[in-house]
Amino acid sequence: MISAFVPTLNNETTIRRVLKGLKAQTVTPEKIIVIDSGSTDRTKDICLEEGVEFYPKEHFGDFERLGLGRARNRILELIDTPYLLSVDSDIIVRPDHIERLIPIMEADPMLGGVAGKQIELNRTELGDRCRTVVEMRDLYQPIREQETHYRDFILGSNNIYRVDALHKVGEIENGNKYRPFEDSFMSNYEDVDIGIKLRKQGYKLMWTPEVHTYHLQKDDVRSFIDRAYRYRVFKWALQGAFENDELYRKKIEHNINYTQMGFDILCEKSRWYLSYPFIIAGFTFFLEDIVRFAENHPMAAKIYNSFLKSQKYFVSEKILSGVLDYNSLLLDKISLKAGDDIDEEIYEWFLKLASLEVFDKKFPAMHDKKTEETEIEIKKKAVEASMHRMGYEKSLNIYGDFKVLLANMPRRDGDRFGVNAGSRWPHTYDMTRYDANLPPYIPFPFFLAHLYSGLQEKKISSWIIDGVAEGYTDEEFIYEAYGYSPDLLILETSASSFLNDIYMIRKVKEFLPDTKICMVGSHVSFLMGDLMSYAEVDFGIAKEYEESALELASAIKNKKDFSEIKGLIFREGKTVVINDSDGDTSFSELPRPERIITPFYNYNDRPIKELEYPSLQIQLSRGCPYKCTFCLWPHTFYGKKYRTADTDRVAEEIKNAVDIFGIRSFYVDDDTFNMDKKHLHAFCDSLEKFNINLPWMAMARADGGLDENILKKMKDCGLTALKFGIESIDEEVLKEIDKKLDVKKCEENMQICRDLGIQIHLTFSIGYEADTEEKIRKTFEWLKLQNPNSQQVSIVVPFPGTPMYKKLIKNGSLTDNKDNDYDGQNALVFENSMGREVTERLKKEWDKNWSEFKAGK
Ligand code: SF4
Repeated sequence: MISAFVPTLNNETTIRRVLKGLKAQTVTPEKIIVIDSGSTDRTKDICLEEGVEFYPKEHFGDFERLGLGRARNRILELIDTPYLLSVDSDIIVRPDHIERLIPIMEADPMLGGVAGKQIELNRTELGDRCRTVVEMRDLYQPIREQETHYRDFILGSNNIYRVDALHKVGEIENGNKYRPFEDSFMSNYEDVDIGIKLRKQGYKLMWTPEVHTYHLQKDDVRSFIDRAYRYRVFKWALQGAFENDELYRKKIEHNINYTQMGFDILCEKSRWYLSYPFIIAGFTFFLEDIVRFAENHPMAAKIYNSFLKSQKYFVSEKILSGVLDYNSLLLDKISLKAGDDIDEEIYEWFLKLASLEVFDKKFPAMHDKKTEETEIEIKKKAVEASMHRMGYEKSLNIYGDFKVLLANMPRRDGDRFGVNAGSRWPHTYDMTRYDANLPPYIPFPFFLAHLYSGLQEKKISSWIIDGVAEGYTDEEFIYEAYGYSPDLLILETSASSFLNDIYMIRKVKEFLPDTKICMVGSHVSFLMGDLMSYAEVDFGIAKEYEESALELASAIKNKKDFSEIKGLIFREGKTVVINDSDGDTSFSELPRPERIITPFYNYNDRPIKELEYPSLQIQLSRGCPYKCTFCLWPHTFYGKKYRTADTDRVAEEIKNAVDIFGIRSFYVDDDTFNMDKKHLHAFCDSLEKFNINLPWMAMARADGGLDENILKKMKDCGLTALKFGIESIDEEVLKEIDKKLDVKKCEENMQICRDLGIQIHLTFSIGYEADTEEKIRKTFEWLKLQNPNSQQVSIVVPFPGTPMYKKLIKNGSLTDNKDNDYDGQNALVFENSMGREVTERLKKEWDKNWSEFKAGK
């Protein structure tokens, strides 16, 4: 019924996997035939080892290379089945590929061919990601939303053709039923061409998401531009554009629209780090044209002159040199003289592109109203940062025999988007309340980023996907994870994200059944051995995990045992083993957290407007000597010690972020930043040493190690605001939560702040067992007296593992919660004396009264 065919040329790295995919078909092809265009590697040996029919180019005549067009024609001479499955040498098909497609072909005799969905397996580096944006037809749409439809042509890489239909085309177009394809197409376009011819004869071509194939090719920016461009050039060549200036002008319009479309997708998807490749693409399309017309065609002169004339407007010297470097080969070929005869339309387009006016969307992630005012400098810097990233990626150890993927899973439930890794208060946002495509607050995943750098230092191949900051859907995350095909996937989880993370792991396991899964994060320290009741989870690491996760990756890679890995939870036969851990990493010795390959411009933690965008989140210390009963990390995640980072190391990190990303402020995201006055002095000295004078803010204790001297010194180094956790001023509540807060001292320190012009942001929480309406109102009155610059209030969440949680369990006061109910989204999840309704009403009233107070009503 069907024959399978693979054209090859030096495909030793992929061909075995491709052939195994064909041999595993549930409907067995009568023949599997490889036609080779002149491989010089082991392609032939592998084909023979796999026992398939192999035809070298010599078999068909004296060709230097056969190419795809000839190979597709020659296969027709070798088969007599009604259907032909054509698969490229870097495409893997699932076992039911033929079984699913044949009935579709059988149902309609006028169906000339049918092809399935092609999933890109390489979506890690910048070039690969650009490709998925350029060829975004199916890639970004969730699989479940895609529908079968007819197309102008179907990809030659994974389709079934009706052989009769091909014969008919060959007969009519070339007088030879074995010659339907155009012999001269060496690579690409033969599928476009045959699509046009088949439709001319009344046949239809169908695309269906019923089958998935997997594309192994790895692209760089150059190859994706080549492909995207040549498809379009081909289309225009068919329409005679190159002989006709008017048609050519339309082509320019088409390219402008195409580039704009790419930018629009980047904006909508918050993929700003891909902008540099798109700048390159925009220029390349035009420069390619110059070469095409280089032989003194008047249009080429116009493009060239427009390009030269607009150079001075290009976004920056750096980008310009990148573009020119990229296209130097093309420019070398041009013998035209620069002149004044420029084409205004093209010139305008170059100017538009050069001044980044094509980015006419809000930049970059529309976190909140504060980022709406787009500034050209930030756009330029973002483009430069993506250029920097392209060079940097080359220095990383990404692909190897053993790969580790670090993940922050996307967390979406309808319109609710959640934040997870890096958050002490994991919660979800109702996105219908925001004019944005990402949550207003996205924390930097410090632990994953430190671990990534550690893996790179140890030369363990690794990649990191922050699905939350990338704004990924589940499908997008799975495509990318599958593309990377890690041996070990490490993901950070929390109570509120746990069920979502388990769901995501199950989805990932459908595609990657052999990948080992390790869960880390605060909730693992709560679950401990119970984590192993989830069969799809292979490992857990309790407490801070960077050093242990590194050891785990190394142990799996080198087949060593796990007995010495601190905090590791794993199975040994039917026994669950839990290794001891003191919980604390050597924080000061961790390598600096990876930033460059993260979606940097999407992270956002700026409680006040003076903390200008883009802003860097840093950590100067970990741990907290206090033990407030509701506080998640000090109780579940950390050991006992308060640890500080080397201040020079952190200052250097800030300096790098200024240079690379153009940050305008930073936020010290410590548990409690002011536990060690000596450290604060050292930090100020380091800021001075590295010549950093940016506005910054930190999370501190209002009654902690502060005095006028250090506050003044920090103010002189750019300190703009301090964020103080107050919770309540009621003694009984403070006693209940063991906050040990000296309210008088808080007031004194806040007065010094005010005198020095340091802004104050206060945080409160309500709903404790000892809370009453009266106590909450008393705290609110105190808040008004203090009149901080800003404040926030939450309903307390007894995160699993905290003393508060344990006490509520003991009292039987916890309502019947699922893990994902422990979401700092302001719903009460236990029984207090006021009840849920009153607590939630009081929270709303607090917010309203505060807005009115600040508005002077
Ligand atoms: S002082 Fe702050 S960081 Fe420390 S335990 Fe209390 S709430 Fe947590």
